[in-house]
Amino acid sequence: MTTRFLTLLAVLLTALAAVPALAAAPKLRAVATVGMLTDAVRIIGGDRVEVTGLMGEGVDPHLYKASPGDLRLLSTADIVFAVGLHLEGRMVDALEKLSKSRRIVLVGQQLDHTLLRSDEGDSHDPHIWFDVALWSKALDAVEKGLIDADASGAETYKANAKKYREDLAALHEWVKTEIATIPKPQRVLVTAHDAFGYFSRAYDIEVLAIQGVSTDSEASLRDINALVDTLVKRKIPAVFVESSVPRKAIDALREGAAARNHTVTVGGELFSDAMGKSGTDEGTYIGMVKHNVHAIVHALKPAESPAPTSNPTPTK
Ligand SMILES: [Zn+2]
Repeated sequence: MTTRFLTLLAVLLTALAAVPALAAAPKLRAVATVGMLTDAVRIIGGDRVEVTGLMGEGVDPHLYKASPGDLRLLSTADIVFAVGLHLEGRMVDALEKLSKSRRIVLVGQQLDHTLLRSDEGDSHDPHIWFDVALWSKALDAVEKGLIDADASGAETYKANAKKYREDLAALHEWVKTEIATIPKPQRVLVTAHDAFGYFSRAYDIEVLAIQGVSTDSEASLRDINALVDTLVKRKIPAVFVESSVPRKAIDALREGAAARNHTVTVGGELFSDAMGKSGTDEGTYIGMVKHNVHAIVHALKPAESPAPTSNPTPTK
């Protein structure tokens, strides 16, 4: 009996000794709102951070409300990342309350406000990820937040952020070059909601949208008719749908133009406020930007020129 017990004890002790990994420092638990931010926290955090993203494929952050499950997740996270600038418009109260007990980083809010586009009133356009260089700058707040929360990982976070900044700098130059291949008169991007203002400013392409900066209102018939006028007058060949916005308004535009004998094609689906399916290229920030730029160049560049084939720096 005693021998058997000792043998059992020995076996147990050996088993315990075989799993030293369990004793390793627990990972920092981070939560991020939109996919673009989740992707960045995952890359900069590397192995030290376990990231949960709240908003998946096709989710509209302007309308997103935190579920009870989200609130539980948020209230137990070591650090929470959001864009701020009212992007997560229906989570403002939840984030505010949470900020009393958790570490909350609003990456857009921390940017120098002179770099931001202003809406009507005194609010700022939150769609900062459309200017790759500006987004890269905003991610400094991710690096700093992670270091503040986990100082012993500082070297890792710095190295990961440096590498990612380099990838983003190459991507920014690639987007500039690609968009510049569209002749100036056709360089007009017509979309459902006004998410592409920073894209317009950074890459010299005119942007026209049916709806305002938030999707939190219906497009009026008058807005649609005014845009149909522009499409017909300027012979704009394509309009774009967005993965996170219903395509109803874009269809109304095409029908309006058709009634006036001007054919408008759908230039493809753009990822505006949400990325593609996770596990695909478009499910990463870099892949999403590349997808959008390929679609825009392909739809707006006159047919006789070949489709773009160049690529930015390879991504892992
Ligand atoms: Zn938006």
